[in-house]
Amino acid sequence: MANIKCIGILTSGGDAPGMNAAIRAVTRSAIYNGIEVKGVMRGYKGLVFDEIIPFKTNSVSNIIQQGGTILKTARCKEFETTEGRQTAYETLQRENIDALVVIGGDGSLTGARIFAQEYNFPIVGLPGTIDNDLQGTDLTIGYDTALNTIMQAVDKIRDTASSHERLFFIEVMGRECGILALNGAIASGAEAAIIPERSMQQDQLADLISNGFRKSKNSSLVLVTEGDITGGAMMMAERVKKEFPQYDVRVTILGHVQRGGSPTANDRILASRMGASAIDALLDGQRNVMIGIQNDVIVYVPFSKAIKKNKPIQPDLVETLKVLSI
Ligand code: ADP
Repeated sequence: MANIKCIGILTSGGDAPGMNAAIRAVTRSAIYNGIEVKGVMRGYKGLVFDEIIPFKTNSVSNIIQQGGTILKTARCKEFETTEGRQTAYETLQRENIDALVVIGGDGSLTGARIFAQEYNFPIVGLPGTIDNDLQGTDLTIGYDTALNTIMQAVDKIRDTASSHERLFFIEVMGRECGILALNGAIASGAEAAIIPERSMQQDQLADLISNGFRKSKNSSLVLVTEGDITGGAMMMAERVKKEFPQYDVRVTILGHVQRGGSPTANDRILASRMGASAIDALLDGQRNVMIGIQNDVIVYVPFSKAIKKNKPIQPDLVETLKVLSI
């Protein structure tokens, strides 16, 4: 059993609903196991600029239902330099912190991996991102809540789209990963999803247009993943307006509404299980792994694997959406 007396916990990068539930689970489970907990504010900034506060059981009371993160989050350029990481290490030593739990996305876990290697420092990561783009885990904390937010928003857009007989392009988050757009489209009964995974192989908009959108309907909803790979919803709308002026086109960019809100039951449970498992992993001598979940079983995923790009999309999701939108 590893000799860990005190852990630091931080949230970094893009925030995601359920991060608070994860903070609570890590804190309570550490204290349950006799480990002291310190909260590091503003991600890696808190390490570089020494913003660290002691955490007790009641520091995490009444937060399981809150979106965002009580530890705040930030992007920290200094941590990307060797000098910045040296300062961070000195802070950890001064604060007598023996191990870290880092909750964040691929950038945050990339930083964790580099730091852990440089200083031989034990770190366990939790996948905290709405994008569900980390490898080795079926789900990330925040994804389910964001997906539900998207579904509810699209339901509302559907009412106005069908009243006015319009074509809507609805832009959702996800960066290089189309899973929010794809599952958002399936869950809301939308026509199609334009996703980065398919942008290289085919002109998804041209395919949609050549099918005449949904022939039996007079309104259409198309979800588009944000970013340069797809071009985003605005570009799609511009193309349609130019080439097919007969369509009455509108764009909705859902934006940061997708990041907020009270986490769903599934996200709270996932965050609680993963948070408790982070402490189990540290006590078990694990280090430099992300906690993942595969087929409802908690697994340890090496950072190097977790942060690999291009998480595959299940082909049956693409097929299901296509079949159901005839
Ligand atoms: P996310 O974790 O949501 O993907 P970012 O990509 O913005 O968010 O990364 C969050 C933070 O992680 C960065 O601001 C930086 O402090 C740290 N980080 C990201 N990449 C690296 C890297 N290559 N080296 C060191 N730190 C990094």
